[in-house]
Amino acid sequence: MAIESHNPYTNEVLHSFPAFSAAETEQILAEAYQAAAEWRTTSFAERAAVLRQAAELLRRRQHELAHLMAIEMGKPVRDGRAEAQKCAACCDYYADHAESFLADEEIKTEGGRSFLSYAPLGVVLAIMPWNFPMWQVVRFAAPALMAGNVGLLKHAPNVPQCALALEKLFHDAGLPPAAFRALLIETEPVAGLIADDRVAAVTLTGSERAGAAVAAAAGQHIKKSVLELGGSDPFIVLADADLAVAAQTAAQARMINAGQSCIAAKRFIVEASIHDEFVALVKEHLQALHYGDPLDEATDYGPLARLDLAENLTQQVADSVAQGAHTELAGGQPDLDSPRFDPVILTNIRPGQRAYAEEFFGPVALVLSAQDADDAVRLANDSRFGLGAAVWTKDLAKAEAMARQLESGAVFVNGLVKSMNELPFGGVKKSGYGRELSFLGIREFVNQKSVWIG
Ligand code: NAP
Repeated sequence: MAIESHNPYTNEVLHSFPAFSAAETEQILAEAYQAAAEWRTTSFAERAAVLRQAAELLRRRQHELAHLMAIEMGKPVRDGRAEAQKCAACCDYYADHAESFLADEEIKTEGGRSFLSYAPLGVVLAIMPWNFPMWQVVRFAAPALMAGNVGLLKHAPNVPQCALALEKLFHDAGLPPAAFRALLIETEPVAGLIADDRVAAVTLTGSERAGAAVAAAAGQHIKKSVLELGGSDPFIVLADADLAVAAQTAAQARMINAGQSCIAAKRFIVEASIHDEFVALVKEHLQALHYGDPLDEATDYGPLARLDLAENLTQQVADSVAQGAHTELAGGQPDLDSPRFDPVILTNIRPGQRAYAEEFFGPVALVLSAQDADDAVRLANDSRFGLGAAVWTKDLAKAEAMARQLESGAVFVNGLVKSMNELPFGGVKKSGYGRELSFLGIREFVNQKSVWIG
């Protein structure tokens, strides 16, 4: 079977790569395993030099990387360049901080000297999605490589050119080629890789379904895994919030990557007294956005990455409306043969509707009405997911109390939920487990070794 690069805006097949054979995959794994034994012996300074060069190349190649993202998954080039720059900052961040994050830690114990040390695990398999095809990979690779691990990337099948461009970039930065390889393979051989003793651990960013399959395989073979899965992030707006800023941020937060972001705000939980005004303001902002060719600088949002994603979203909206949701903004798919999907606002979201329970991975804003702050927290927590959350209010003490009650991996008060190098990123409930970024991210794929010397 072939791995196909396909432009969702033009519906053109760009490139077809034959999937790697079992023998090719075996050779790459064998070389990676060997490279892991060597790379772990390098100093932090040597690794940092490679990562700093990778950062430099990410900045220098931002236009071509943005072009690839635009043609393979529909991200506007403006956003693609920002993504490449964010990747560069992540490489620099771990080049600067990995050594201190993984320094030995002295621990007082009885009768001897003790310390905690961090040793690399070896080959880490990274299974990644298409929505941030550079960022998802780099936020895994930068800390993993700095920790002394090597990476094998099984990217989503619709972004093979992005995968190969990143592989080349790391090689050009001076990384031993076998220490980071893209595997152009389908789903089927992944279980065999996870089972292989030469693979030490696995990380997956993607859907709940994929996470469950990968975690089951990892569990069967007693392998460490990290899962970054879906979300249906609440965006709570209390009556005393700065409504104009909240509404503008709400629209922005829902439209990140044409709505295809795990931490895009998806459920807007608004105090009843400001509900209608909030909806009207968000609608204005969403209607002002311009759909177009992802290669055009003026484009605000492009098509969804694949036709089936648009079809699925259309069905979720139709079912929710049939179940009682109200349409406040009727965007959707203007052409059922195209993955273009214009922003939608649904209100009157209630238990029993698909919109109440499911992740909507596209530009559909789901608005729920809350009686007060307690009711808002109750609604926010009544979800299978727990990735990010936002709270908008001028009462910061109340916001902090709500932040502590919210069942999510992150809470942002009066701001847009985003991933930052310094802050741990990850979820609870069906949004996964483990953390990426920050000092916690780099400690996921290391042996946290206790040493006691009498
Ligand atoms: P997906 O279908 O789960 O795909 C993600 C990756 O997993 C792809 O490389 C896919 O490759 C692979 N995969 C799927 N099933 C697999 C299996 N059984 N065994 C091994 N690998 C498997 O997800 P998606 O639809 O592309 O991405 C959207 C989802 O990702 C959303 O739910 C979103 O919220 C979530 N996401 C989460 C985060 C986060 O940081 N928490 C970030 C971005 C996206 P194949 O297609 O070849 O199987």
